[in-house]
Amino acid sequence: MRTLRLVLGDQVSRHVAALRDLDTERDVVMMCEVQDEIAYVPHHRQKIVLILSAMRHFRDALRREGATVHYVTLDEPGNSGSFTGELKRAIEKFTPQQVVVTAPGEYRVWDAMRHWEAAFGLPVEIRRDDRFICTATRFRQWARQRQNLRMEFFYRDMRRETGLLMDGDRPEGGAWNFDAENRKPWPKRETPPARRRFPPDTITREVMALVERHCPDTFGTLDAFDWAVTRQGALDALDDFVIHSLPFFGRSQDAMKRDAPFLHHGLVSAYLNIGLLTARETCQRVEQAYRDGHAPLNAAEGFIRQIIGWREYIRGVYWLKMPTYAHGNALEATRPLPWLYWSGETTMECMAQSIGQTRDHAYAHHIQRLMVTGNFALIAGIAPVEVERWYLAVFIDAYEWVELPNTHGMVLFADDGLLSSKPYAASGAYINRMSDYCGACVHDVKKRQGDGACPFNFLYWDFMLRHEDRLAHNPRMALAYKNVARLPPAERDAIRAQARAFLDDLPTRPAP
Ligand SMILES: Cc1cc2nc3c(=O)[nH]c(=O)nc-3n(C[C@H](O)[C@H](O)[C@H](O)COP(=O)(O)OP(=O)(O)OC[C@H]3O[C@@H](n4cnc5c(N)ncnc54)[C@H](O)[C@@H]3O)c2cc1C
Ligand code: SF4
Repeated sequence: MRTLRLVLGDQVSRHVAALRDLDTERDVVMMCEVQDEIAYVPHHRQKIVLILSAMRHFRDALRREGATVHYVTLDEPGNSGSFTGELKRAIEKFTPQQVVVTAPGEYRVWDAMRHWEAAFGLPVEIRRDDRFICTATRFRQWARQRQNLRMEFFYRDMRRETGLLMDGDRPEGGAWNFDAENRKPWPKRETPPARRRFPPDTITREVMALVERHCPDTFGTLDAFDWAVTRQGALDALDDFVIHSLPFFGRSQDAMKRDAPFLHHGLVSAYLNIGLLTARETCQRVEQAYRDGHAPLNAAEGFIRQIIGWREYIRGVYWLKMPTYAHGNALEATRPLPWLYWSGETTMECMAQSIGQTRDHAYAHHIQRLMVTGNFALIAGIAPVEVERWYLAVFIDAYEWVELPNTHGMVLFADDGLLSSKPYAASGAYINRMSDYCGACVHDVKKRQGDGACPFNFLYWDFMLRHEDRLAHNPRMALAYKNVARLPPAERDAIRAQARAFLDDLPTRPAP
């Protein structure tokens, strides 16, 4: 046997670098379900089911192609529980001449991988993950030329490099971004579309039973599991989005609506992040819909920016700054994560909706993550490590390379503004403008403090007061601090007291 090719759970793509030159006659492909990966945070059960089921479907597809696949299931006797342990066992069994693997998404795994060659005494080739458009080296070069790493300029470079939505060397439509036409609340009388879902097949049902046995107490229900678990399923899901929702994507991307978790979002991050779709083909499909006249430019551009802009940029920042990136805590936030993040039990309707749908579907869209659960964590002063652990655990698409910069940088400002020029702190007014949550809430969104006041209001003002020394000089916060300056001293005291009492009253418990 010549080469042992290790494929990780978020690399289930026939085009992944480690399989590029697969020789089905002589090579062995290896895949393993390991306890270390299941347990390093208390993952939502739907996330574990998605990954294991996609792995098993991919194993079967490779076998149909004639490949020899060495597959270790989670409950197989002798499973060592780690990639390193399973690789050691496989090397003993197959005595390969070399090991080939695609670079992992997370620093934690890469750190283990780079010791394999010395540990096993045979060549271990770690190939660049070319599912991404921008390499880590290319991002480093880009970052070296900048004083601040704003996404917008990176995005323009990615547009030029990919040719997506370009008209020669100019952006299609004469502008790079059409956000002025985007980001409206959900129209009052419009019913959200029924999105295509994928009922579990036999393999998925087997995995669900395994996960129920193996992780009986972790967060999230399995009842509503209907994510695609194959390449074809993911392509069908993308088609469904493009046909029914893409035309309205820009307009609705920031809207929130009670009992409507998906609205016109793509629902593709889970598939992109494990290899069932590629970024390039997803954006090309969307561009084609625009060129065919099916979707307006503001929608197509807004969607493509999320992927070749934000997604690539976030990954670039992760690999540029790890491993130290996670250590910062610029706003010195130290509160433990309130239990309501796991239970969903709260009188705040916006939090109950966002956490409830996360429990049921392992999904909340960007604005719910940023401006509801994220904003609450920011203004309440919750410790970054606790917030990050929650985000990494509960979402179907969560991997550290994408979760960490979003949470640590964009939401919590823990990186002192590396990723965003100001904290996204907001009062209840923003949530009220973009959702119908407040109308169904016991709290009064119009009230700053006092009986019945919306907690997002007094926590927001308390946050602004708490960080006045650090943030008041930020030009992007100047307007907000003009309003802070108008607060009478007695009201400042009342806000501080109410915020402290409210937060001290929130139950905390160890994570499940
Ligand atoms: C605190 C926080 C944590 C997040 N954690 C994750 C995570 O663990 N995994 C993850 O994939 N995304 C994460 N995001 C980004 C974003 O919320 C999700 O990608 C998006 O909600 C996925 O749903 P969708 O496919 O319906 O996205 P759509 O709204 O349809 O957007 C299209 C695609 O754009 C990409 N995208 C959009 N915004 C971002 C962003 N800020 N960073 C990276 N990609 C982006 C995603 O691939 C997404 O599928 C996080 C955002 C925040 C604020
Ligand atoms: S009133 Fe405040 S707590 Fe209630 S839904 Fe609105 S923003 Fe959330």
